[in-house]
Amino acid sequence: MSHRPVFKVEPSIPLVGCIAFGLIDRGTNVIQIRPTTLCALSCIFCSTSAGPKSRIRQIEYSVPLDYLIEEMDKIVEHKGRYGIEAHIDTVGDPFTYPYLVELVQKLNQIEGVETVSLQTHGALFNEKILDKLSSAGLNRINLSIDSLDPELARRMADTPWYNIPRIVELAKYIIENTNIDLLIAPVLVPGWNDEEIPKIIRWSIEIGAGKKFPPLGIQKYEVHKHGRKPKGVKYLSWKDFNQKLEEWEKIFNVKLRLSKEDFHVQKRLMLPIPYKKFEIVQVKVVALGWLKHEKLAVSSNNRRAITLVNADHIPLNSKIKARILTNKHNIYLAEPLV
Ligand code: SF4
Repeated sequence: MSHRPVFKVEPSIPLVGCIAFGLIDRGTNVIQIRPTTLCALSCIFCSTSAGPKSRIRQIEYSVPLDYLIEEMDKIVEHKGRYGIEAHIDTVGDPFTYPYLVELVQKLNQIEGVETVSLQTHGALFNEKILDKLSSAGLNRINLSIDSLDPELARRMADTPWYNIPRIVELAKYIIENTNIDLLIAPVLVPGWNDEEIPKIIRWSIEIGAGKKFPPLGIQKYEVHKHGRKPKGVKYLSWKDFNQKLEEWEKIFNVKLRLSKEDFHVQKRLMLPIPYKKFEIVQVKVVALGWLKHEKLAVSSNNRRAITLVNADHIPLNSKIKARILTNKHNIYLAEPLV
């Protein structure tokens, strides 16, 4: 899948603080769960530059199941034990996590977690794992399908074995044979799959996607600092994107412009953010960062994980001072002061 080493995130490393792994609380009832960074595909538009063909990642992370559950339980306690959605999204694909079924089952058992959902391209789907996930209580799969044309789908996933007809078959299987709600979430990459999107909308409605949640959540491709930029991608403004959605809504008589309410997202108490922007903190370097030139560090009292940028010269296990550059939603980037 990837030739990069996989670093196990042991309990002394906090699960809050690094975007690549652990738990992300953005001040709502939805908590993002990131057990692994691995992905089997290498999509040409990937915002996190995941997969075997990644040129900017240097390491992958995996979080032990029990540790993830223990820390999630603490966050749910802090936020209130009601109406919580555990959304397994990852900077890769959750199906690369060997304990995905157990993870869903244990998340479901946490008092206050009412919805368990995940985000995937479905490349590693099979009937058996879908059955197990359904029995474990998975409520929703957000399935990204960007083209129904097999050749275009392979080119967009940059993966010769990516088999969209098989995923289409398994999408129907989910609807017909499991209790999992299916939301089809294509990424519109202007210049690449504009003509595929209406076909995907028609197909999603035909197969009966979205029973408790909307059937479709169309996403817009955006250029990300560390993401991939496909050749020939065209610029599409948010205004034009929304206009397209509006046109398709009229043609297909389906809601495509979604709001937080469609997913029952509510504001909730956020975890405290212990470090301010530009604050100087003492950290210990514990591993390589997931992207080249980065290191993973931990702040004193193991409060938060912190990603050090421009840190090639900083040895592992060293204790140094670093200046916080960003702290939004408790996700930290810092620069070493040595
Ligand atoms: S878009 Fe998703 S499936 Fe594709 S490479 Fe990125 S993380 Fe993997």
